[in-house]
Amino acid sequence: MCGFVVLLAANLGRLGEEGVRISSPTRCPGSFDGLEIEFGDLFGGDEEAVRPEARELLDHPNFAASAPAAGDLREGIVDPRLVRALKVIADEHVICVGAFKDGHYFLEGVEDTPVIPDGYGEAGGLPNTHYFGRAVDIWAVDGKPIEGNGDDPGVRDVGWVLASLPPEERPDQIIGPTAWTERLGRSHDEGWVLQRDQIELHEDHIHIGFREENGTHNTR
Ligand SMILES: [Zn+2]
Repeated sequence: MCGFVVLLAANLGRLGEEGVRISSPTRCPGSFDGLEIEFGDLFGGDEEAVRPEARELLDHPNFAASAPAAGDLREGIVDPRLVRALKVIADEHVICVGAFKDGHYFLEGVEDTPVIPDGYGEAGGLPNTHYFGRAVDIWAVDGKPIEGNGDDPGVRDVGWVLASLPPEERPDQIIGPTAWTERLGRSHDEGWVLQRDQIELHEDHIHIGFREENGTHNTR
């Protein structure tokens, strides 16, 4: 995933809802995995057409997104459960989101389809939750890239925030770097993906998804 421009509402210096000037000292890293970082207006000038929960996230001072990701939110492509989970995370940490559906790919040069392509670990052939707007990739937390920071307290805390969600609201496809996964020690029953091949493919980002259109597979 590359070539995205990441936009962070917090750094616009514009007025928040209560007229308080938002000025977060934290920004997305200058670049990671080819992501080009810039700041701009996540709404694209058409606030009225955006669903309230998506609007809340787009306007959240801790939420940053690439232009395609912000577009998916504006257009209602993103599953509302995922929007809510991201809002809970953003209440605690600055997050930089690369892609939901638009612009996402598993293998460079291979266009996304409803199923994960062969060659992506052992997940080839499984449903592609990104394609259905039910998954997101977070590339940085509190200004730190996920890569090399799986054990960073802020990055780790994103896992704790997710773990604290009720099972029916918690995504059931949570994948992150090795250090992150090992320190959190969460289980498959709680929504974590623990297959070694998948963890190795997520050393540089945290993937959060819902496997099904309705409900979750979480049992605790
Ligand atoms: Zn993903």
